[in-house]
Amino acid sequence: MSLLSRLAEEFPNTPPPARMKAALLYAGVQYDPCLAEAGDWAFPNFMPHHLLPGEAPFRGKMQFNVPYLGWFDDDTHVRLRIKRDSPFAIRQTGERRYLLLEGDVPVAPLTFEPRLPWVDLLTRDGTPMRATGLSQHGDMLVLNPAPGCEYFVSPLEGGKSENLSCTFCLYGLPDQRMKPLGQELFQPRLPEVSLDRIADACHHPETHARHLYLVGGSMLDMDQEGERFVQIARRLHEAGLHERYYIACGTGAIPKRRMQEMKDLGVRGACFNLEVWDPAQFARICPGKAKHVGRDRWIRALEEAAEVFGPADVMSAFVGGAELEGEGAMTDPERALESNLECGEYLIPRGIQPVFSLFWKVTGKTRGEEPVYTLENFLRLNEGLAAIRRRENRPINGNFFCKHCAYMQLEPDYDHVVSPIPEAVRTVD
Ligand code: SF4
Repeated sequence: MSLLSRLAEEFPNTPPPARMKAALLYAGVQYDPCLAEAGDWAFPNFMPHHLLPGEAPFRGKMQFNVPYLGWFDDDTHVRLRIKRDSPFAIRQTGERRYLLLEGDVPVAPLTFEPRLPWVDLLTRDGTPMRATGLSQHGDMLVLNPAPGCEYFVSPLEGGKSENLSCTFCLYGLPDQRMKPLGQELFQPRLPEVSLDRIADACHHPETHARHLYLVGGSMLDMDQEGERFVQIARRLHEAGLHERYYIACGTGAIPKRRMQEMKDLGVRGACFNLEVWDPAQFARICPGKAKHVGRDRWIRALEEAAEVFGPADVMSAFVGGAELEGEGAMTDPERALESNLECGEYLIPRGIQPVFSLFWKVTGKTRGEEPVYTLENFLRLNEGLAAIRRRENRPINGNFFCKHCAYMQLEPDYDHVVSPIPEAVRTVD
C-alpha cells in the first residue's frame, strides 16, 4: 500500500493536503535533474545538493542549488528535502510547472517558490538587503536585527558566565553577525542606521510578503527586551510599514505595558515561544528561560498578550519531540504526545495558539536528517490540536500564520483548507 493511502486510512480527519505535506516532510523526494535546473530560478535550499560518485553530473558539476520550497496549487507550501529512498518523485510538465508522483501515480501539480529580487539588492546606503537581519520564509519576512542571545552568556558571580541557551538552539550564539547590525549584549537600543536599512528593505515593492515577524536573541531583562522591540516597532510605524504588513513580535515574556506600547505602534500579534510544555522538560531544555523568567510568568505573559492583542492574535511555538531527546528526556513518546495535547487544552481556550515544528535528531547516524517524532505521532498531535481549535471555534488566524509561510508546520493546513480541495490532491491507491 502506498504511503499516502496508508495515511488516508489512519488519519481520515486530516485534510489530504496536510497528509501529503507531512509525508513529504518525512519522506522527502528523489533527486531528479529538473530540480537542478529549477535551481536557476527557485529560492535555494540553504545546503546545495551533492551528487554521489557514479551519478551523472549536472552541467559538469557534482553540487548545485535545488529548490527549498514546493508550492502546490491550493497554496500548500512544503520544505523539500532530497532523499534517495523516497517514494516521491517530481517531474517537469511545463515552464516552471511540475508534477508530484508517488511511485508512478500522479499526486498533485506544483511549482517552486521563486527567488525574490529584493534579496540581491542594496539599501540606500549600499548595504545588501539580506545583511539587514531580514530573511524571507514564504510570504513572511523575518526580521532579526539582534541575533545574539544573552542566555548563552548568563552571568555568574566573579565575572564568569554560564551557557543557559535552549538545548536545541543553533542560531542564538552571540557572534560576528552582531557587528554589522550594531547589536551590543545587555544594551537594549539598536543603532538608528540599522533600523533605517531595515525600513528600506521592507519597503521594497517586490517582497511579496504579507507578514513581518520581529525576532531576536533574548535579553536577560524582559523590560529591556521590550524596550528594544518598541524601538523597532516605532521605526516601522514611522515608515508606515504597519499598514502594509501584519507585524507580530516574537519576543520573550515582556511586560504588559511594553506589549501595549507595541500595539499602539501598529503591532498586531505576539508569539512568545515557550518551546516545551512539560514543566520538568521546560526547565531541562530551556534553562535560560526557566531561570530568568520562569514557566508561570511565561504563560501569564501569553495570557496578557491575548488581552492586549486579542484572542486571535497570539501564538507560542513549540518544538515537538525536544522532550524526547537528551539526558533526562521523557522516555515514552505517548507521554510526550499527551503532554503536548494538554498544552493545547490549556492554551487554545485562552486565545493562545500553540504551533508545533519538528525537532530533528541531534545525535546518531540520522542526526539532522530525521525528526524525533514519528510521522504518525506528528499527525496525531496535529489532529488533536485541530480538534481542540474546532471545538473552541478558534482557528489559526491566517493574517498571522498561513499556508504560504507554514512550510514546516501543519496547523494552517487543517484550518484553511481551500475548498474544493484540488482534484489532483487525491489519495493514490
Ligand atoms: S531564547 Fe533559546 S531559542 Fe531563543 S535564541 Fe535564546 S537560546 Fe536560542
